[in-house]
Amino acid sequence: MIDSFRLNGRRALITGSVRGIGLALARGLAQAGAQVVLNGRDTERAQGACALLRDEGLDVDYSVFDVTDHAAVAKAIDALELRLGPLDILINNAGLQHRQALQDVSADDWHRVMSTNLDGVFNVSKAVARHMITRRHGKIINIGSVQSELARRSIAPYAASKGAVRMLTRGMCADWAGLGLQINALAPGYFQTELNHALVNDPAFCEWLLQRTPAGRWGNVEELCGAAVFLASSASNFVNGQTLFVDGGLTSVV
Ligand code: NDP
Repeated sequence: MIDSFRLNGRRALITGSVRGIGLALARGLAQAGAQVVLNGRDTERAQGACALLRDEGLDVDYSVFDVTDHAAVAKAIDALELRLGPLDILINNAGLQHRQALQDVSADDWHRVMSTNLDGVFNVSKAVARHMITRRHGKIINIGSVQSELARRSIAPYAASKGAVRMLTRGMCADWAGLGLQINALAPGYFQTELNHALVNDPAFCEWLLQRTPAGRWGNVEELCGAAVFLASSASNFVNGQTLFVDGGLTSVV
């Protein structure tokens, strides 16, 4: 690997990383040399994921907090920096889906999606960036989606939240790029994780997806790691405010 892509000596926090895409990104960044801090809301699940990656010889730790709780996030980040040292990289990955016709979505479900997918990005980024800004150094990667760009029936709150993540990424760039931070978004296409359980088990959706995606297949979570390592490393030091789609070409064609 070219040296500028290496993450040795860097510490990364990845929210929502006890399974799925977050866990794959944790493995990818740790394999590239970073110390990775896992996160989720449940201590046992976080410990389990941590043990799994440690068994693979990777340098990982964990911090349990709920990204929707502004005060708890700030406390957890301060404690983490005291315990382990400075965070160089943050990946805002925690997210959830809610599938329902928009006219039937309750206010509670709307706010649940927004508070995790959007408020969560604000809460954790603010807490981490305050430390990064004092050091004039830091990388933030927000996990968007093809729904940052395209809507789809029955997931309007999710699409609204992910579209907002793309603009929040640009807003962070506007405020923080001059303070030494690089903030970009990584927007996955369709990957078979727990979040997409309903789609994976829907033959009509799978058939549509394979036709709709130029690459003609689902993505493998490991295929997000190259882009994440790039955006987390000094190889991307002049890339700022961008959204990088890793979607088998889906957002490039109709
Ligand atoms: P999963 O449901 O498999 O994993 C979600 C993770 O987020 C879990 O680790 C969960 O841990 C954690 N989490 C959920 N809510 C919170 C919270 N409030 N605070 C802290 N952690 C939380 O989802 P995916 O891996 O599929 O998705 C990860 C990200 O990628 C999401 O932002 C999603 O929108 C995005 N994405 C996924 C795509 C896909 O095809 N799968 C496509 C495009 C984007 P726990 O429950 O233990 O707290």
